[in-house]
Amino acid sequence: MPEMPEVQGLVEFLRGRVTGLEVTRVSVANIAALKTYDPPVDALTGARIAGVARHGKFVDLATTGTDAAPHLVFHLAKAGWLRFYEQLPTTLIRPGKTPIALRVALSDGSGFDLTEAGTKKSLAVYVVRDPADVPGIARLGPDPLDPSFTRDTLAGLLTGRRTQIKGVLRDQATIAGVGNAYSDEILHAAKMSPYALASSLDDADIDRLFQAMTDTLAEAIAEASGKPPAELKDAKRRGMKVHGRRGETCPVCGDEVRSVFFADNSLEYCPTCQTGGKILADRRLSRLLK
Ligand SMILES: [Zn+2]
Repeated sequence: MPEMPEVQGLVEFLRGRVTGLEVTRVSVANIAALKTYDPPVDALTGARIAGVARHGKFVDLATTGTDAAPHLVFHLAKAGWLRFYEQLPTTLIRPGKTPIALRVALSDGSGFDLTEAGTKKSLAVYVVRDPADVPGIARLGPDPLDPSFTRDTLAGLLTGRRTQIKGVLRDQATIAGVGNAYSDEILHAAKMSPYALASSLDDADIDRLFQAMTDTLAEAIAEASGKPPAELKDAKRRGMKVHGRRGETCPVCGDEVRSVFFADNSLEYCPTCQTGGKILADRRLSRLLK
């Protein structure tokens, strides 16, 4: 799943490549992906792309030159991606028989597809007058890349939160843009258990967590920056020290990276670095054993 650094990479790529171009056609191949009906998708036809922005994990293409001046906003969800073509294929998209959810054709012959692998479709597309009309954007918490997001901002967000820090970091209404992968990486860098209660962190813990978040995201952004969409997923995978690396060696201490499995995902951590050597219970197994 693309998280803030990859989405930021996509945004920078699109900003440099499509700003100023006119939208010549938008084809919706998976109607379930389209979450809005007013303005209609056709309102994008003839509009000129005025800018590209990121809100959390959402991409926002602003347009100009038409009455509605709609924004095309999308969220790639778990298995979605953007495929850019210098020369957009002219083949017909057959709804239901393709991973393509949406195709956007641009005035210089280029264009892009939003694609989604798998059967569980959750990629979401919105055509809105204002990005704040997208509920997921309206409720976003502060963005850690924003210069106004300080150590004290983080401390304020954690105060009184009697929930596990892993869940707090992933909660988009608390902090925008961090998901399952980067929360694993941030907690590993902070040498903190994913199960630590947010409200129980002391000042030194919060200092460490803030530094870990800042460093981890800055490194990932630097890695993603300037890469074409096709290379962003590999760049993300390469940068991971524990996430998705169960059974591999922790690059910091040499211990074995462990997983905890949940219904539809897992987290990874290093026992020596993060839990004082304690192995966290596997939620999936313990449920099966009940
Ligand atoms: Zn370790």
